[in-house]
Amino acid sequence: MSRITVRVIGTAQDGGVPQIGCDCANCRRARSDFRRFRYPSSLALHLPLPERGESTFLLDASPALPAQMDMLPGEAPVPDGILLTHVHAGHYTGLQYLGKEYLSAREVPVFCRPRVAKFLQDNEPWATLVRDENIRLMDVSADRSFSLGSLSVDVMDVPHRNEYSDTCAFILRGERSLLYMPDVDGWDGFAARFNAAVQTADYAFIDGTFYRQDELETLRQRPTGEVPHPPVQQTLDLLADGTLYPARRATYFTHLNHTNPLLNRESAAHRRVALAGCRVAVEGLCIPLDGWET
Ligand SMILES: [Zn+2]
Ligand SMILES: [Zn+2]
Ligand SMILES: [Zn+2]
Repeated sequence: MSRITVRVIGTAQDGGVPQIGCDCANCRRARSDFRRFRYPSSLALHLPLPERGESTFLLDASPALPAQMDMLPGEAPVPDGILLTHVHAGHYTGLQYLGKEYLSAREVPVFCRPRVAKFLQDNEPWATLVRDENIRLMDVSADRSFSLGSLSVDVMDVPHRNEYSDTCAFILRGERSLLYMPDVDGWDGFAARFNAAVQTADYAFIDGTFYRQDELETLRQRPTGEVPHPPVQQTLDLLADGTLYPARRATYFTHLNHTNPLLNRESAAHRRVALAGCRVAVEGLCIPLDGWET
C-alpha cells in the first residue's frame, strides 16, 4: 500500500466545465451528464508528516475546493497545506474557504513564490487570511527545493501572463517524481528547461488548455493570443521530434479549456494523444509516489 499518493481532483482550465454562459457542445454535454463535469486544475498530495501524521496538501486552491475535498478519502477532509502555482482565479481563490466565513483554519502553510505572497498580503480579502493567521505564507525560491515529509519539492519558474505575480511549476520528488505545470505561455525559449524537467519526472501534468491554436477564435471570435498557451498539437509535435524527451513514464494533459476536443473521449484529438503515448488527465486518478502499486 502506497503511503504517498497524488490524486487528481481537477483537470479543467480556471472556469471549469461547463463554463458559465457557454452552450458549446462540451458545455452542453457536461450539463446533461454530471459525470462530464470538470473542476479547475488541482492535485491532492497525501503523505505522512512526522509531526502531524497523515496529511493532505493541495497543488493549487481552486474555486471548487469544497467539492474537490469531498472527492478525497476520509471523513470531511481539510487541506493541511497548499502549494500555489500563481494567482489567476482558478488557482488560488479557493483560499477563501480557509477564512472565518468557512473553515476558520489555523495557520495552514501556503507555499508560493515571493510575488504571490506579496499579492496575497497586499490585497483583500486575502490579506485578512494572513492577518487572522488562517494561512501562513511560506516563500519558496525558484530553482531551490523544500521538504514535505520525505518528499522534496522543486520549484521552477514558468513563463506565463504575470500581471499580478510570478508563475511556477512544482516537481514532487519521492521514490517517483511528478511534475505539475498547469499554465505556460508557450515553448519558445522554454522548451529546453521543460525538456529537462520532463526527463526527470516519472509523471507529468502539463498545460493542455487548447488542443488547437484557433479554438477560442472559432467559438467566441476572441483571439487566442489574448490567452497564450501552447496548443496540445504543438506539444505533441515537440514530443514526436524528440525536442521533448520521450522516455517519460506518463505525460498527462490537464487544465483543459471547455472548448477542448480532448474533453470528449470519442474525439479524433483524444485518439491522437493516445497514439502519441500521452494521456488526458481525469479526476479520480490516483498515482503512488513511493512505489508502483496503488
Ligand atoms: Zn489557469
Ligand atoms: Zn463551452
Ligand atoms: Zn494562469
